[in-house]
Amino acid sequence: MSVASNTAASPLAPEWLQVPADLNALHEPLWAGSVVRNDAGVLTVGGVDVQELRAQFGTPLFVMDESDFRARARAFKDSFDAAFADICGGVDVYYAGKSFLCTAVVKWVEEEGLRLDTASGGELAVAARAGIPGERVALHGNNKSDAEINRALDMKLGRIVVDSLAELERVGAIAEGRGERAKVMLRLTPGVHAHTHEFIATAHEDQKFGLSMAADTTDVAGVSAAEEAVAAASVHSGIELLGLHCHIGSQIFEPDGFALAAEKLLRFLAAMQDKYSITMPELDLGGGYGIAYTPVDTPRPAAEIATAMAAVVRSTCAELGIAAPRISIEPGRAIVGSTTFTLYEVGTLKTVRVDAPAASGDRDGGNNVTYPRRYVSVDGGMSDNARPVLYDADYSAILASRTSAAAPQLSRVVGKHCESGDIVVRDVYLPEDVAAGDLLAVPGTGAYCWALSSNYNYLARPGVVAVRDGSARLIVRGETEEDLLNRDMGA
Ligand SMILES: *Cc1c(COP(=O)(O)O)cnc(C)c1O
Repeated sequence: MSVASNTAASPLAPEWLQVPADLNALHEPLWAGSVVRNDAGVLTVGGVDVQELRAQFGTPLFVMDESDFRARARAFKDSFDAAFADICGGVDVYYAGKSFLCTAVVKWVEEEGLRLDTASGGELAVAARAGIPGERVALHGNNKSDAEINRALDMKLGRIVVDSLAELERVGAIAEGRGERAKVMLRLTPGVHAHTHEFIATAHEDQKFGLSMAADTTDVAGVSAAEEAVAAASVHSGIELLGLHCHIGSQIFEPDGFALAAEKLLRFLAAMQDKYSITMPELDLGGGYGIAYTPVDTPRPAAEIATAMAAVVRSTCAELGIAAPRISIEPGRAIVGSTTFTLYEVGTLKTVRVDAPAASGDRDGGNNVTYPRRYVSVDGGMSDNARPVLYDADYSAILASRTSAAAPQLSRVVGKHCESGDIVVRDVYLPEDVAAGDLLAVPGTGAYCWALSSNYNYLARPGVVAVRDGSARLIVRGETEEDLLNRDMGA
């Protein structure tokens, strides 16, 4: 049996994964603005190095660059405002709180001139604690409870995004019972689905969200659920119909899908305004803007997407002869995703030998050639980042506590959970000399990681540290063993 040499370009690596020219270099789109290596080669963020962070807060740890969060939030607000200034006087940007939410973040969002999207009573509780005015908050959800609807009305929310005909009736009845009118947007499914690099358009939707725009979706002959909702909302004494909403997907790079959805909603909005003699002053085009998780992802700047979307809104409104509604958007991942990396400590290292992949039968050729795959275990895993398990998501990682001149070795970063699927980074080249006690940083973990974290195996969920101008502070503390035992009734 021959053994292939342990060098770069492993046949076990996926095709997209290049061997980095310099393992110590930071691929810029993956990292928050202030992340650099200091003179000693240690990764630093906001002027604080990861060794200090480990000493002060332990690992695993979510490390967020506060200035970077603020800058990305402002970039969305400023570039969409600029692109839409002549169309509707600017854009309302609702930060999608489900991507990562805590009191500090709500304050930053408000200070930077954005608004907040929520999707549950719990998220509303965070908004309330942060003191953001209810009028700047929206509530989503396909199954809002009466308690959540009442809470939204108590907080005088700027909008409740209604997801179904049944919910429209429920929101209307609750508001009516309180002698109020709920400010409502209707979530429609325009039949546009964007998948990262392409989008598909279908007439009929097979998903739980939204009101279908396809005809024949209700009992009323030829009338779509979306139209039935507009008709009902426009005459309901408990409803103030603000307008229409759609959200076509997530981690989308190309603006075409957003543009097509905008056009479809504007045509529908114009037709409904005409038919029911109403005005719908607002149109929300949702979130879903993509970020870089690995070096092959190339997200578009917010300004480029804003310009493409504005062009379609401008031309469609002109063609339809309608005044443009006030546009809003709901970015989550694109604001918070790249602001944060997860800091892990390396523990057990293990190299297994793997048969050549089937596709490279020529290499295998009956020679029983095997290739090394090194498993690098870290002190967290699927409990602090469920996305690889949930979505097959790819990430990257870098040796953070020092530089290394060692050769690249194909590695798989795995967690410490009792699951073989507990993968943090499926494929990455790391220096051959990575050892127990080293720190790894996994970038792009600001969105949907802490938010989806769990206590699987009774691991304590990590804290979140915000770093700015040379100082680091916890904005969410990590859990303690006491937290873990707190709800266990003891017998
Ligand atoms: C999840 C979600 C968003 C945010 O999506 P991102 O991909 O994080 O930008 C916006 N609006 C709605 C309705 C959502 O469900």
